[in-house]
Amino acid sequence: MLHIQENITHILQRIEKACLAHNRDPKEVKLLLATKTVPASKIRLALETGQTLIAENKIQEIKEKHPDLLDLKPINHFIGHLQTNKIKDILKYDVSCIHSIDRLDLATKLHQRLTLENKTMDVLIQVNTSNEESKFGIAPEHALQLIQQVSELDTLHIKGLMTIGLFSADENQIRPCFRLLKNIQQQALQLNIPQVEMRELSMGMSGDLEIAIAEGATIVRVGTAIFGERIYPDSYYWNENK
Ligand SMILES: *Cc1c(COP(=O)(O)O)cnc(C)c1O
Repeated sequence: MLHIQENITHILQRIEKACLAHNRDPKEVKLLLATKTVPASKIRLALETGQTLIAENKIQEIKEKHPDLLDLKPINHFIGHLQTNKIKDILKYDVSCIHSIDRLDLATKLHQRLTLENKTMDVLIQVNTSNEESKFGIAPEHALQLIQQVSELDTLHIKGLMTIGLFSADENQIRPCFRLLKNIQQQALQLNIPQVEMRELSMGMSGDLEIAIAEGATIVRVGTAIFGERIYPDSYYWNENK
């Protein structure tokens, strides 16, 4: 119990420090708990410290843990690669925002299903800012076009952008990823697309959240630094076939 609480306190301190160092209000940056592989009992401990925002990468894990956490009323986001054949399932679990919209085909099918169920969904457009083949996300040069196309699907409310920074120990290689996302946000804002909000930048994880905050992150997604190392490599989540 204690170490999760301590880890969260430490992360909140890191967020605050990074905000203050870059003239930002710490209230502008939300902490999202990335809970893949973490059992519901541990997520519960984190929620009991007052955290509210959690996200899974796989529908199967939401399905397993969702009933156990219902009483704590978490805000559920989804940050994993979404296959079109899982769309129906994701709508069963109170997911309020999907961070990983990266192709028109996915957005269209999600829109069709939402229309059928008379629902709406907040979404972020995921951009592959590191140009790694192993990562999902729309190529930066096609992001504006995708934003425009998705904006025409009236059940989907675009709230901003998401990216995963380059895995590197070299800050000079990570920062351009986040800067690029900010840049795309600014370009999208200039287009003034009806129904599109560009407030959220979901970027930064356990290892690079300070850099992301310096570059404008409004949501940082943290797993390892709160829950400890995972057994599965991230490639298990990020490198599956489409
Ligand atoms: C696992 C995951 C995170 C959290 O990464 P950590 O390095 O464990 O903090 C953030 N974003 C996505 C998309 C993830 O899959």
